[in-house]
Amino acid sequence: MLEGRVWKGPILDQHMHLDRENRFLKAISDFVQSGGTGIMLVHKPGFSGALPTDIDGYRFAYSETLGMANEVRDTHGVDVGVVLGPHPVAWEHQIEPLGLERSTELHIEAVGLALDHIEAGEANCLGEVGRPHYPVDEMTWTAANDLLLEIMSMASGAGVAIQLHVEDNGEKTCRELSELCGKAGLPLNQAVRHYAPPDVSAGFTHGLSATVSVGKGSVEALTGSARSACAPWGMETDYLDDPRRPGAVLGPKTVPRRTRELCDSLLSDGWDRDEVTNLMTNIHIDWPKALYDL
Ligand SMILES: [Zn+2]
Repeated sequence: MLEGRVWKGPILDQHMHLDRENRFLKAISDFVQSGGTGIMLVHKPGFSGALPTDIDGYRFAYSETLGMANEVRDTHGVDVGVVLGPHPVAWEHQIEPLGLERSTELHIEAVGLALDHIEAGEANCLGEVGRPHYPVDEMTWTAANDLLLEIMSMASGAGVAIQLHVEDNGEKTCRELSELCGKAGLPLNQAVRHYAPPDVSAGFTHGLSATVSVGKGSVEALTGSARSACAPWGMETDYLDDPRRPGAVLGPKTVPRRTRELCDSLLSDGWDRDEVTNLMTNIHIDWPKALYDL
């Protein structure tokens, strides 16, 4: 699937949000025209509007995401896997209005509902779940970690992969998450750190898998660390499709572009063609297939 120096195989963006009120299908057109063939559509919490305050609210919000996934499949013929779950920031935001106990209870209910959809074959992965990416007081941090451990145990029991939204504290974050996975019995290749930095070396990831945010400079960093990776990794934009935050994250054409650049960079770095083909096959086909049952 490597023709010349160009990868002609499937290209998967593992973390993309879409919004009917914004670019929605136009963003998918951009992605497809750039060579993209599949996305993991991640449920987008309504931070700007009202967050669900009961499980029926979550049921409705999830159905919107599932509906968008169907529409993308029908109109563009791309593979769409769905990542469904309550966002850790929603949990933190709701501690004040609902109280810690109720916010936590609702969060667990929403995880259960997402797992039901996955079991029914309507979604493929639990996420994004995790812990707040900004500083919170010690009591909240402890509660967040207890909650995450419970979520990981639920995912482990269901045999489901999770996408993790977490803080960026370098290798320490990966180390702590790997330990939590161990406690929960969740295999590390089924726990994916989303919005991961482009260092995929074993010393950084501690065996936790990752979807790398492929921003500027990522191709150089991936070229430098890919040889010493010990865990599977993929690529993502975290495209937000948010009119209030244009350009806050990467655009929908980015993963196809970085795939091209990375192949070129690895070949120039001395990788042979089979090695590059194997890596691309694992990033865009084999690992996602195993992970999400796509
Ligand atoms: Zn996201």
